[in-house]
Amino acid sequence: MEFETHCDTEAEAVVPKEPPKIYRLEESVVNRIAAGEVIQRPVSAVKELVENSLDAHSSSINVVVKDGGLKLIQVSDDGHGIRYDDLAILCERHTTSKLSTFEDLQSIKSMGFRGEALASMTYVAHVTVSTITKGQLHGYRVSYRDGVMEHEPKPCAAVKGTQIMVENLFYNMTARRKTLQNSANDFSNIEDLLKRFSIHHTNVNFSLRKHGASGADLHTVGTSSRLDAIRSVYGVSVARTLIKIETSDNNPSSSVFKMNGFISDSNYVAKKITMVLFINDRLVECTALKRAIEIVYAATLPKASKPFIYMSIILPPEHVDVNVHPTKREVSLLNQEVIIAKIQSVVESKLRNSNEAQTFQEQVVEPSPSGNIGIIKDSSFSSSPSGSKSQKVPVHKMVRTDSLDPAGRLHHYLQAKPRGPLENNPSLTAVRSSVRQRRNQKETADLTSIQELINEIDCNCHSGLLDVVRHCSYIGMADDVLALLQHDTHLYVANVVNLSKELMYQQVLRRFAHFNAIQLSDPAPLSELIMLALKEEDLDPECNENDDLIEKITEVASLEKLYKIFERC
Ligand code: ADP
Ligand code: MG
Repeated sequence: MEFETHCDTEAEAVVPKEPPKIYRLEESVVNRIAAGEVIQRPVSAVKELVENSLDAHSSSINVVVKDGGLKLIQVSDDGHGIRYDDLAILCERHTTSKLSTFEDLQSIKSMGFRGEALASMTYVAHVTVSTITKGQLHGYRVSYRDGVMEHEPKPCAAVKGTQIMVENLFYNMTARRKTLQNSANDFSNIEDLLKRFSIHHTNVNFSLRKHGASGADLHTVGTSSRLDAIRSVYGVSVARTLIKIETSDNNPSSSVFKMNGFISDSNYVAKKITMVLFINDRLVECTALKRAIEIVYAATLPKASKPFIYMSIILPPEHVDVNVHPTKREVSLLNQEVIIAKIQSVVESKLRNSNEAQTFQEQVVEPSPSGNIGIIKDSSFSSSPSGSKSQKVPVHKMVRTDSLDPAGRLHHYLQAKPRGPLENNPSLTAVRSSVRQRRNQKETADLTSIQELINEIDCNCHSGLLDVVRHCSYIGMADDVLALLQHDTHLYVANVVNLSKELMYQQVLRRFAHFNAIQLSDPAPLSELIMLALKEEDLDPECNENDDLIEKITEVASLEKLYKIFERC
């Protein structure tokens, strides 16, 4: 084959006769290679710039992006600014204000320390810095290329802080630029990053805007409540599902840490996990912790096994090695396994508790008084009281319980559940018994008329049909009036109108005299109403005899007699 021949020839050609000579790479080549590692995508540049702004104690950080960051990334802050004297070396590699000795790394609190970010940007893009420090009358603007200033800093008008503009990212890295040009999610990656920062740094205002757009895509306002911040950034539907979580350990022989955060409950369903993790205020990733939490969710809430997690872990700085990744994306922790196991167990217990709480909410849904129509009582359906394993429930046995969440989840309903400890709640029991009392048909037994009518229903009851109605599963509406029901292996068509009429009639009878009283502002004109009702019946309107009769009837005040009249009608 031609290809193989070609390869063979090539292989022969490259086999060196002597070891190749080793050259010292030019600094610009070294820097450009390193820069490609630090700034991997537009979002990595934004992360470095925002971290610099946070390190400069800013309270407002505004980001403008063009073409997903490839054409322009501009980050403006209101931090302490950069001294005029430092501008000359600002973008050289390994120049930093945050570290002087290696030992400083042990106690470092700032996010940056490598002095590489700005330098790296100047090797793969055009960087312009405008800055002003406190007490200065004007600021300075200067552009950088390959680590050095392109000209002397020029005085410029400036507001408090620093603005850094990164243009034409990867202009000199053709392959990288081409791959990124085809990717549509750079902007959403940047948005996602800022959302994460904003829910942790709740005292800082963040904004993100596409260049030329009038409105911001993200705009957060500082708040003292973390949950409020999550709500405003990720939405009510996420915030509503969150459970507060915290734990700590202060045992030097096992682990020393504090953790607090929010985790989603069974109502949060997503395609992938969102884990916003801050360790000592650094936005980082920790695959082992993420995996450990995923395992707990998969075992406890299989249907909500891709949770939303916000977690902040604080450790003594000397227990964290921040220098394990060029982009500082990962950190390594002392006693990592112990810490993860502790967090895993607190997540698990929170989820179990929340599951129990939800079981309680479902239990308060009572069947309708008639108790029979459309109710599913499937004993195989009951879930364990601990709620540890949620079971697969067919979709036709679920109902949307939260009207505020139209796109939300369906919940299984009216389950026959074993009585849990919450059932003993005295106030709940009191409410239930009073409701049951009101529905107690025996109380109406003293009214013989009602009892007769109820007996009539009971005598005419078709036991087979009753069983169908009691134990059927609702499938759906076939048209406006006909519903499809399944019972055992049979499919039934039920006239909903007739079924509803019968249901209402039976309900009225069984709850007779136990409806809640309504106070009318003006007394109802009883006699007129009775007249109207009787005239509606088949009595001949022309006949005066009937008029007399009706008048007599309307004079009857006793309720007992009214019952009899209704009966006759
Ligand atoms: P590092 O953050 O690791 O120190 P950088 O290259 O990101 O390295 O930044 C170099 C230095 O420039 C920082 O140490 C800081 O003193 C200064 N600097 C960068 N951005 C800002 C900013 N937005 N506000 C104030 N100073 C800044
Ligand atoms: Mg930095």
